[in-house]
Amino acid sequence: MSPVTRASKSSRRTGTPVRTAPWPAWPPPLDPAQRELVDKVLESGLWGATQGGSVVADLVDAFARRSGVRHGVAVGNATLGLFAALRGLGVGRGDEVIIPAYTFVASATSVLLAGATPVIADVDPTDLHMSPDAVRAALSGRTAAIMPVHLAGSAADMDPLNDLAAAHGLAVVEDAAQAHGATYRDRPVGGLGDAGVYSFQASKAMTAGEGGLIVCRDESVYERVWSTCNLGRRLGGQWYGHPSVGWNLRLTEIQAALLLPWLDRLDEEIDRRNAFCAAFERELATIPQVSVVPQPEGTTRDSRHLLMLRVDPAVDRDFLLTAMAAEGVPLDAGYPPLGTMTALTAEGARTEPCPATEEAARTVVWVRQSMLMDPAGAGDLAEALAKVLSGGPAVNRP
Ligand SMILES: *Cc1c(COP(=O)(O)O)cnc(C)c1O
Repeated sequence: MSPVTRASKSSRRTGTPVRTAPWPAWPPPLDPAQRELVDKVLESGLWGATQGGSVVADLVDAFARRSGVRHGVAVGNATLGLFAALRGLGVGRGDEVIIPAYTFVASATSVLLAGATPVIADVDPTDLHMSPDAVRAALSGRTAAIMPVHLAGSAADMDPLNDLAAAHGLAVVEDAAQAHGATYRDRPVGGLGDAGVYSFQASKAMTAGEGGLIVCRDESVYERVWSTCNLGRRLGGQWYGHPSVGWNLRLTEIQAALLLPWLDRLDEEIDRRNAFCAAFERELATIPQVSVVPQPEGTTRDSRHLLMLRVDPAVDRDFLLTAMAAEGVPLDAGYPPLGTMTALTAEGARTEPCPATEEAARTVVWVRQSMLMDPAGAGDLAEALAKVLSGGPAVNRP
């Protein structure tokens, strides 16, 4: 039976959908401060990042400060940001960069863009973040960097990863694309490694449609990252002097004007999503086939980009996804293991055995950030799951 047939059978069996009200839209409505600053930038005519406007610089300062570091560079997106961070840290041709297998494809393609080889290592089977043991097993004489990903808004367990990197002389680039405002042992993510990279792409917790930002502590790393994003110029040097090779990877003032005021409400939005997750966890006892993927050790503030749920392997996941959509509570199947993407391996990416990632790709589903913005929706999520799974796993098999 096709999933669609099963879904219509399911909605017949279950009557009216649990939820008919729309979920909150993403992005949230513009607030007056965003409108005012965007208007001001539009009126000024200073739309680019090199015309003397100050909004990009203010955004960079605010992110660096929030990340607990001195420096930052705004970029067109986080894929390019990860690339520029690697390049700024001297990672390139002949080097290997260890990345987790359960992440967005850009964690790998940014490494390829830098001319280095992504080495795809398994994640921790419980929290699905980069596993220090898997990193250790993936080390080679060519390993130059590791790229922990703060997946779903919770922090990778950075202390053991930083210790490992220090012991082997590796650079650490944090992929914080999903984790604006998250903390690890009460310290902001992004500022825990040598460089951290945020994304402002349309699905992220702060967005200008597209955009990204790199933060870093070290002055010389900053100078190289800046140069990479500014056509190889030297910071403070001549406009037509290009002592290094670089590209124009800049963010516009218009984008920064959407983002800067957002920082004033980011924490409130994170609280709202955490309230959803807390309310949902109180209902979990009614749904024995589902558990919440726990945060790694050390997450002190989860920014809740996504809520990841682990479903009993006996449940047919395609059925679950279709039936939940029919109940008005759409879920997402999440990432395939990076190592199974032949486009990456064809470009030289190397993959380690990834059993925990393969298990996650089969059994984990995501609740999207926009849905988490409606704390009252936690009851709908729990009710729909309980309803769809009420027959027990066996009856849900095709
Ligand atoms: C979104 C995302 C990226 C890429 O960000 P863009 O701004 O879209 O280039 C990289 N890594 C992770 C984990 C992401 O979620």
